[in-house]
Amino acid sequence: MRAKTAKGRFGRFGGCFVPETLMPALTELARAYYRFSRQKDFKEELASLLRRYAGRPTPLFLAERFSRFIGCEVYLKREDLAFTGAHKINNTLGQALLARWCHKKRLIAETGAGQHGVATATVAALFGMKCSIYMGELDWQRQHLNVVRMKLLGAEVIPVRSGSKTLKDAINETMRDWIASFPYTHYVFGTVAGPHPYPLIVRNFQAVIGREAKRQILEQAGRLPDYLVACVGGGSNSLGLFHPFRRHREVRFIGVEAAGRGLASGFHAATLCRGRPGVLHGSFSYVLQDKNGQIASTHSVSAGLDYPGVGPEHSYYREIGRASYTAVTDSEALRAFHLLCEKEGIIPALESAHALAWVIKNRRRFRKRDIVIVNLSGRGDKDVAEVAKIEGKE
Ligand SMILES: *Cc1c(COP(=O)(O)O)cnc(C)c1O
Repeated sequence: MRAKTAKGRFGRFGGCFVPETLMPALTELARAYYRFSRQKDFKEELASLLRRYAGRPTPLFLAERFSRFIGCEVYLKREDLAFTGAHKINNTLGQALLARWCHKKRLIAETGAGQHGVATATVAALFGMKCSIYMGELDWQRQHLNVVRMKLLGAEVIPVRSGSKTLKDAINETMRDWIASFPYTHYVFGTVAGPHPYPLIVRNFQAVIGREAKRQILEQAGRLPDYLVACVGGGSNSLGLFHPFRRHREVRFIGVEAAGRGLASGFHAATLCRGRPGVLHGSFSYVLQDKNGQIASTHSVSAGLDYPGVGPEHSYYREIGRASYTAVTDSEALRAFHLLCEKEGIIPALESAHALAWVIKNRRRFRKRDIVIVNLSGRGDKDVAEVAKIEGKE
């Protein structure tokens, strides 16, 4: 199986549905990506940065006490140990390096929870580039610590007051900036969504997760895993893990979305489980929409999963049945969060706790010899106050 990416399509999904004024920037980016990313010097420079700056390779850890509870072998891919605390740095380092090869002097990015903004501000400081981060005003208030972090790193943080004042509006504003500034500015898109070539670029930069995991599981267990499990917001940590295993049909892919207060409640962010195909942010993919085709408002306890769209390659995987998509609720994720703290001494990000929750919920389906790899996309320090607040209330 091979996704057709030549024109930015994954089956019938993907593409580049943007205003004419954005096309020159995207065309230049696609050309630069195809030209530079294949060159030996570029690959070596990126590999060296990932190793010396971001702390790769991240460990693949057999979680023994958690495994005993589940009843099979559960390995954790420790993206929580990557620099800045999540997988985001893999993509921001790659795109910043691409920007430098294109002689761009400035990075811009959208951010929701602030994790992608922090990772972008980090690499901008590292490379001595100017940096502006667009953030919805509501998110600005909810994730204030990350606003402070971005400012410490020298970034300008711009509050977005339009629309629902969250991530999707921040993306619109960042695109507007880029139309006017692309001769000297690169837009660091944060996930595998958006117009071509972003779904391809971000997936390839995140595929380092799956390449490492494949080598590590063969070393440690002597065979490929039975399941790969990852949470799906925009879909980058999951595709990064899945992609290098795509031709191994016996390895099952499970993508776990946020069911929030329950799929029937209307308060969730389960785009692949409950959305319909449509266009959002320049790409044809599953989208959460209301009866009139307007973008639905979303809810999840984890800010990183709170997005009404999803990368087009996931929509393609769903359609051809290469991956299965399910959703777990806020309370199931919170239970998994505590279980991992207590069983392994690891505080996971609430996003990652969704992937763990699926494994817990489905533990009866596993045989003793099954090997499951869960992508621990980030660490949970950022969520500790939120969890305390929620549980204090209850
Ligand atoms: C941003 C984020 C996610 C969601 O984004 P994807 O593109 O779906 O990976 C998941 N986990 C963590 C820790 C994040 O910071």
